[in-house]
Amino acid sequence: MQYKSYSQFLSSNLWTAYRSIALKESGHRCRKCGTKRGRLEVHHKKYTANWNDVKLADLEVLCQTCHFIHHHHAANDPQYVLSLESEVLNDSP
Ligand SMILES: [Zn+2]
Ligand SMILES: [Zn+2]
Repeated sequence: MQYKSYSQFLSSNLWTAYRSIALKESGHRCRKCGTKRGRLEVHHKKYTANWNDVKLADLEVLCQTCHFIHHHHAANDPQYVLSLESEVLNDSP
């Protein structure tokens, strides 16, 4: 199946499955600062034009703060900013 957009992919069962595996593998901790508190978000280390190609190795669990800082540093890349919004929207536990 081809997803028309990134947000469509993020509402798919495939992404839901990836997301819960990534959270489980991280031990529900932020990869950067190690916190277990607050909301954890699943970040894409790498973006691909074909969302079906997303691999677990490309995902990273970050707390809201570390995630924001990460994207803030990459703020001159519009794709990152767009993706941050999608990632956050999809982040209901
Ligand atoms: Zn953190
Ligand atoms: Zn991200």
